[in-house]
Amino acid sequence: MLLSSRVKGIHDSITMKLNEKAIQLTDEGKVIYNLSGGQLPIKPTHEFIEKIHHQLNFLKSYQYSPSAGFPALRKKLIKHFISSRRLPAELFENEWDCIVSNGSKHTLYNALGALIDPGDEVILLAPYWVSYPEMVKFWGGTPTVVKSNVFDAFVPAIDDIRKAMTPRTKVIIVNSPNNPAGVHYSEAWMREFAEFMREHPDLIVISDEVYSDISYFDPKPSYFYQVDNELLKRTIIVHAISKTLAATGLRLGWAIAGSNVINAMSRIQGQTTSGPNSLMQRALLDFDFQFLEGFLVPVKNHIRTNAAALREKFREANLGHCWYQSTSAFYFMIDFSRTPMFKRFEADQDHSYLIADELVNNEGITVVPGSDFGIPNTARISLVIEEVPFLEAIMKIVRYLNTVS
Ligand code: PLP
Repeated sequence: MLLSSRVKGIHDSITMKLNEKAIQLTDEGKVIYNLSGGQLPIKPTHEFIEKIHHQLNFLKSYQYSPSAGFPALRKKLIKHFISSRRLPAELFENEWDCIVSNGSKHTLYNALGALIDPGDEVILLAPYWVSYPEMVKFWGGTPTVVKSNVFDAFVPAIDDIRKAMTPRTKVIIVNSPNNPAGVHYSEAWMREFAEFMREHPDLIVISDEVYSDISYFDPKPSYFYQVDNELLKRTIIVHAISKTLAATGLRLGWAIAGSNVINAMSRIQGQTTSGPNSLMQRALLDFDFQFLEGFLVPVKNHIRTNAAALREKFREANLGHCWYQSTSAFYFMIDFSRTPMFKRFEADQDHSYLIADELVNNEGITVVPGSDFGIPNTARISLVIEEVPFLEAIMKIVRYLNTVS
C-alpha cells in the first residue's frame, strides 16, 4: 500500500524501541542494566489505586466521557494548577478552560494540531523531548532547534532563542524540568524568558510541565507566567499523571489554556479518540492531591542519591568536566565528546547510535542516543533504577568512557 507522505516523515519512538530491546535481552537471560527507561519503576500511591478500585463499581466509569473530559475534573485541575503555582484565582474566571486527554503526548498532539498551519515554525530547545519534532512535522510545521551544551547544564541561552525567531515562528515549546537534561530552568532564566516573550506579542508558548512535581534540588521549578501573569493568555500548560503518579500506562494528561484553544483541541479530540479514559478521570477526580508530596519524597531521595553517586564516580575517574548538577525529572545527559573514548571517533560527526550500541553489546547497558534529543554525541541515562545496579552500571560506563581503544 502506498503510505501518506505525512507518515513517511515520522520516525519510530526510539525510547519505546529501546525499552523493548532491553526486555528482549533480559528474556534471553543476559544481565541488562536498563538505563533507557522513561518511567518510575514503582506502582502509583495506594491512595490512588484505592480510588481506581472504588470507581470500578460504577457504570459511568465504563462509558464515554464528554470529549474534553468530565467538567468537575477539569475544574479541579485548574484549581490545583492555580494553587500549586500560587497564581491569583481571579485571573482564571470565565476565559480559561482545561481539556483532559489520553496522556499528555495526546494533549500535545491536540495543541499543535490546533495551532500549526503548514509552514509555521516551532522553536524547540535542545535537548528536547524526542516526540516534539515528530509531532510538529506531523501537523505540517517546521521545527527550529536552539541548542545548548553541557557547560551550561543544557540550559539554552535566551539570546540564541532570539536569533532563532523568524516571521514564521508561531510557537515555542518550553519543557522545564527537562527531559532529557534532568534540569529545570532557573528563576532568572524564566524572568529573562518573560522579557523575551514580551518582545514577541504573537508568540505562543506550550509549557510542558509533566516533570514539575519531581525536583530534588532547590530552588524548585518556577515559570515565566509567575513573573508576568499576562503571559498566561498565550500559554498552554501541559501536565499529566504519568510521571507524578508513576502511572505511564494509565494514559491521562491535560492542558490548561484560554477557552478558544481548548475548544479547538476538544474538536480534534472529539473526532479522534472521542474523549479520555473515563475510569481514570473518575479516580483522579476522587484523589486528594495532598497525598502526592508524601508519595514523592522517597522517589526524590532515591534520584538524588543516584545523582550524587554518579557525580562521585565521575569525579574519581577525572571526568568531572563532563558532569553538571542535575536537579529534576530523572535523567542525566552524558556528553561523550570530551571523554578519552571519543579519541576513536571523528569529532565533527554524530556517533550517538554507535556508542549506544557499543554500550548495550559490550557492557549490557541500554541508554538513549542523544541525537534523538537534538544533541550529538551524547546519551540520556535514567536515574531511577535501584542503587546497587545503578552504581554497577555507572562504574561500567566510567570504565568505557576512559578506555581509549
Ligand atoms: N512530555 C515529556 C517531556 C515527556 O518526557 C513525556 C513522556 O516521556 C511526555 C510529555 C508524555 O507523557 P504521557 O503521554 O505519558 O503523559
